[in-house]
Amino acid sequence: MTPSALKAGGGCGHDGPALPLEQARGRILEQVEAVTGRERLGLREALGRILAEPVSAAIDVPNHTNSAMDGYAVRAADLAEPGARLREVGESFAGHPFDGEVSPGECVRIMTGAVLPAGADSVVMQERTERNGDQVIFTEGCKTGANVRAAGEDVARGQKVFDVGRRIGSADLGVLASVGAAEVDVLARARVAFFSTGDEIVPVGDPLPAGKIHDSNRHTLFGLLSELGVEIHDLGIVPDVPEALDEALRRASRFDAVLTTGGVSVGAADYVLEALEKVGSVGFWQVAMKPGRPLAFGHLDKAIFFGLPGNPVSAMVTFIQLVRPALVKLAGARPAAPLAFEVPTRNAIRKKAGRREFQRGRLVSGEHGMMVEPFGHQGSGVLRSMSEANCLINLAPDQGDVEAGERVTVEPFAQPIWN
Ligand code: AMP
Ligand code: MG
Repeated sequence: MTPSALKAGGGCGHDGPALPLEQARGRILEQVEAVTGRERLGLREALGRILAEPVSAAIDVPNHTNSAMDGYAVRAADLAEPGARLREVGESFAGHPFDGEVSPGECVRIMTGAVLPAGADSVVMQERTERNGDQVIFTEGCKTGANVRAAGEDVARGQKVFDVGRRIGSADLGVLASVGAAEVDVLARARVAFFSTGDEIVPVGDPLPAGKIHDSNRHTLFGLLSELGVEIHDLGIVPDVPEALDEALRRASRFDAVLTTGGVSVGAADYVLEALEKVGSVGFWQVAMKPGRPLAFGHLDKAIFFGLPGNPVSAMVTFIQLVRPALVKLAGARPAAPLAFEVPTRNAIRKKAGRREFQRGRLVSGEHGMMVEPFGHQGSGVLRSMSEANCLINLAPDQGDVEAGERVTVEPFAQPIWN
């Protein structure tokens, strides 16, 4: 059924009835392909970027067998008897190896990270020894290999450390540096454009005539997109005028992804779907979730398109649930499965069975462990509920009202985004 037919009184979505969330997510992901452009970057510039080529270790890490302790490098066989005495024949400091060999009856003073001298096979902590001139007395024996870090124990030379599609995080920068990768090949950043729609929308900073509201969606979207590290293109505000929307979508089709907010429902001034049908193609619209039921997905030329609802909470929740995984795949990585767990709710929750619902809540830890406090006003226009919340309460379609103390599933806002 077309959007126009639906406005005329149809009751279902463009491509059948409203889709369950998981199905909508799956269908979207099926239709997203990763960007193909790539560039070679210096290590630090690659932070937050996605690998286009696997990285293998150019060297063993650690590069040499070394000591995990400050103490003495020994031959374990020399310490068979408690109270054994060995002659100290030299020192091995980090960066300054001992260049001789440890023969039976000898030991070398060694520091953490220093090369284990030839002949030695173990290290005894300094605290387990006594010194008398050039004689070192060992109060107890040791196992062969004790306190020794073998060359290549962390990463062996030639071993693959990261695969294509890896998003480079802070620890990864360290790993890459340790294996000698001064430069890496990464995918080009996905170019994501967005605009707000609505005759009532005025940019923040401009005067606000009667009946108008400031544009908040473009700013939350800017924040959400910044977290993903994509290239952001803010195309401003487009009025509820069909020709203006057609034109705006045409101009946006050169990007990799296009997001709009508002105008996607069945109201008399909702033209986004009609414009999408004319300029691009509609995959499906309407997802069986609250907030966020009116949501369009489609293509504008090669760009993927999301028409998000205008209500600020709905725009954010649909972004988190459906747009973010798609943009992760577009960027060339794998989206992480949502991190969810069950906790009791401090207050009762009202919920109509029949569709999935995401309510805003605050996870708090109390005497009896963690609980969630649902936010008082769950209206999809109350953006403050998103600000105050730290999690979404994910209520399954068949779930009805929930009593205080019952367990509910929560998805914290601090989510692993990249798999
Ligand atoms: P719509 O989806 O266009 O019917 O809009 C739904 C509600 O969201 C209306 O109350 C709009 O005024 C509001 N809204 C739409 N776009 C924005 C925006 N960019 N910033 C804040 N509120 C918006
Ligand atoms: Mg509107």
